[in-house]
Amino acid sequence: MFEMKERSGLGRIGELRTNHGVVETPALMPVVNPSNLVITPKDLARQFGIQILITNAYIIWKSELRQRFLDDGLHRALDFEGPIMTDSGAFQQHVYGRVDVSNEDIVRYQVALGADLGTVLDVFSEPDDKRRLCEEAVEETLRRSRDAVEWGEGMGLVGTVQGGLHMDLREYCARGLAELPMRVHAIGGVVPLMEAYRFTDLIDVIVASKKGLRPDRPVHLFGAGHPVTFGLAVLLGCDLFDSAAYVKYAQDGRMITRWGTTKVDELAYVSCNCPACHSASPKELQEDVGRLAQHNLYVSLQELEELKQAIHEGSLWEHVERRCRAHPSLLDALKGLRDHVGFLERYESLVGGTLFYTGPESVWRPVAYRFRQRMLKRYSPPRAEGVLILPEGARPYTRTYSNTLRDLFQKADAHAVVRSVFGPVPVELDSVYPIAQSVIPSDLDLEAVEASEVLLREFLRRGYFSVGILWEGEATIDELASKAPGPTAVDMDMQKCQAIANYQFGPGAADALLEGKVEFVKSKKTKKIRNVFVDGEHVLSLRARDGLFTMKLAGGKRLHGALRPPKLRVVVNEESAPLNREGKNVFAKFVVDCDDDIRPLDEVLVVDGDDELVAIGRALMNREEMRAFERGMAVRVREGSRLP
Ligand SMILES: [Zn+2]
Repeated sequence: MFEMKERSGLGRIGELRTNHGVVETPALMPVVNPSNLVITPKDLARQFGIQILITNAYIIWKSELRQRFLDDGLHRALDFEGPIMTDSGAFQQHVYGRVDVSNEDIVRYQVALGADLGTVLDVFSEPDDKRRLCEEAVEETLRRSRDAVEWGEGMGLVGTVQGGLHMDLREYCARGLAELPMRVHAIGGVVPLMEAYRFTDLIDVIVASKKGLRPDRPVHLFGAGHPVTFGLAVLLGCDLFDSAAYVKYAQDGRMITRWGTTKVDELAYVSCNCPACHSASPKELQEDVGRLAQHNLYVSLQELEELKQAIHEGSLWEHVERRCRAHPSLLDALKGLRDHVGFLERYESLVGGTLFYTGPESVWRPVAYRFRQRMLKRYSPPRAEGVLILPEGARPYTRTYSNTLRDLFQKADAHAVVRSVFGPVPVELDSVYPIAQSVIPSDLDLEAVEASEVLLREFLRRGYFSVGILWEGEATIDELASKAPGPTAVDMDMQKCQAIANYQFGPGAADALLEGKVEFVKSKKTKKIRNVFVDGEHVLSLRARDGLFTMKLAGGKRLHGALRPPKLRVVVNEESAPLNREGKNVFAKFVVDCDDDIRPLDEVLVVDGDDELVAIGRALMNREEMRAFERGMAVRVREGSRLP
């Protein structure tokens, strides 16, 4: 069983339950070779806080340890109390070109060893294998995975996604595995990609696999032991990693850093302060493989801790964008993420931390892409003759341009749009996440400027306004006024509420929410709208933090009446509905279905099977997750329909 605790991107902090305890993910599983223990499992737990190990059942099975491990059991034989995963040796048998153990034998052997997680003997495909060969490997892998279900009884089965570089085969294989009762899924066949720095192929493989897998099962990226790839993989939803690298690199005289690798022979300074390096001289590290292995493990674990903190802060994208500057091939992969932005956006929370621009790739973050998409699909402009296009500037734009806007609205019948680096921003949406919450350099990359031009032209082509003029100084307003004489007859407070409501809840939402006598309660200090009352009822509150609305029950009732199912709905079963009516939270296992457009942190309507409104609240998952997860909260309920 797996539960998601926190999220950022597709990355998540989760809890994986096993027979030997709970593992917090993302987690690194050090590879332990029982015939060559560089760091003992006991020390891995005690000194490094390692929660879960991985060892190769095939290598044990082949060695003279086979019987002793059966007699003692894996945990006693390795002297490790936490969960242990075993590998079936598919990779080794692929490399040595012979299969000397059957799927049934190795699965049963893993069960007999007492492995917490044991792996099906999948069929490995090389990245350059032709389609036909990969197809056969996928079918055989699926057949073996189905067979293993019976033999693996009592053990958490791990089913590995294969398919080479044929993304449809990857997704097909993943879908087939997702239907089987497995505990964890692995993505296999990726070591050759990482060894050759083919990170763009790697992200394509991870995304294709994730598309087919179920979001409620942890994903293990097989063979990814160097911390330089952890960030990208975690961002794309990988939860488990295995590292043989900490030992292999040490034996090879290489020191792992979070940016790459340093040859220990060339070490003149010890720039690391981990417990292994602290007070060590370069010579001591050069001469002590054990110490170097310890360093390699510490630095790998440190990267995972930083990733977890980034998930907690909602800043995983920034972290990964920065890490991807470590190697040009990683930068290519980062740029390649834009090809998947539609899929990534589905899992991206509605709001997050401050968006720091790190380069032109930042414009392709899912939150920025979502802003543009929702603008295209949901925005309706005020009735005005002309539009003034203002340049990118300090946030919030309405403060930066307050004098200009006052002048404009007095003289001309016009609206104003800022040509932001993330796309055109009508001024009434300037406080909405991520626009006001982003920090950008004053000197922008040409690539980003060009992208914003294209987006602006797309916006203007929609023909909302008959006259459009680019800001070139004070005279521009007079020029615009001569073509579209003012003043502007738009109530900006109303326009702002309408635009945000439609942006957030979809077309038609503003009409439903704001029909009647509208009153605003404003902050005394900032003069900003705080609460929206309609016909004396409190329907919405505007959050200062992200510029979006918090729905009140009265607002929920209006939206429920106006928007047809499945819009904004989370449908719960009859066991859950009475509890949610009382204001209790919605747990994923009770969700029947939900609107496909719901994203984590969206405001939602909780309804029963007859579409009766039972509560309103905030979604913590998207549709795929609500339907899949057996554990965890799907909606944090704010108000039940049966008020005390
Ligand atoms: Zn160190």
